[in-house]
Amino acid sequence: MSEIDVVAFKKNGFFKQNQENKFSLRVKALAGMLKADQVKKVGEIAEKYGQGYVHFTTRQNIEIPFISLDAIETIKQELAASGMQTAGGGLRVRSIIACQGGAICQGGLIDTTALAEEIDRRFYGRELPCKFKIAITGCSNNCAKIEASDLGIKGGLVPTWHNQNCSFCGRCAGTCPGTAITVDKEKKSLDYDEKKCLFCGKCAKTCNGKAWTGKNGFRLYFGGFFGSEIHTGKQYVSIILDTEKVLHVLDAVLVFFTSNAKKGERLGKTLDRIGTEQFQKALEEALSQ
Ligand code: SF4
Ligand code: SF4
Ligand code: SF4
Repeated sequence: MSEIDVVAFKKNGFFKQNQENKFSLRVKALAGMLKADQVKKVGEIAEKYGQGYVHFTTRQNIEIPFISLDAIETIKQELAASGMQTAGGGLRVRSIIACQGGAICQGGLIDTTALAEEIDRRFYGRELPCKFKIAITGCSNNCAKIEASDLGIKGGLVPTWHNQNCSFCGRCAGTCPGTAITVDKEKKSLDYDEKKCLFCGKCAKTCNGKAWTGKNGFRLYFGGFFGSEIHTGKQYVSIILDTEKVLHVLDAVLVFFTSNAKKGERLGKTLDRIGTEQFQKALEEALSQ
């Protein structure tokens, strides 16, 4: 099998194994989800065409190892009939990972699944100079470890304090990672420094009296990758309150990446090489739309 064939199979979600003419088939599980009947179908395929087991990948997809070359077309048809598709590798936007987020998890500040579906609909598979990984996590507990992806999205909160509900217990000040809150129990006063706020939402989670509420939003981190080199995603914009703006920003980032990255260069490396001035300008323009 030629190198060109191997790359083409990989693009289609079939990864060449060590064993001759055997492939590990990667089934896409967007945001780590499949329907119950789809899970059954994956099991059936593993029994019929593989070796009766599956492997859950680190990015929430499912691989079925030991697929023979001559079974590939049939399996693709069987997956499609069950509403599934393969998760291709290579130089493009990859399958999006997400924690359960606000639709399920009590800690969640955003609906991670809905956002993953929308990003998938608009951007999945877009051809780029390098792979581009996206991760979404519902709150600052960061279960999806989003700083390890080219784009990480974290649920956040722009807090508002309500004097009338406050007992000045000081708990919120104790948990605030930005030291944005100061409470004087004796004077019964609370000071909130907006400039120091990291929009983590911990104050609202901590306060039993509901003296902190707020608007939920998205905190974006760019340029992360965890491979033979480690690069942690960084924030270049403040919290965004509007889903459509997040999508504008992502589009602008992908355009920037296409124009500026060398082939095989991750976003973080491009930013290291050319600096962040142009990138920040692209972000600002996208946010002003
Ligand atoms: S990151 Fe937050 S919302 Fe997501 S699973 Fe963890 S605790 Fe829940
Ligand atoms: S935790 Fe709530 S009640 Fe206690 S000081 Fe903070 S805002 Fe006030
Ligand atoms: S959102 Fe986070 S950083 Fe901001 S005031 Fe609340 S606890 Fe502090």
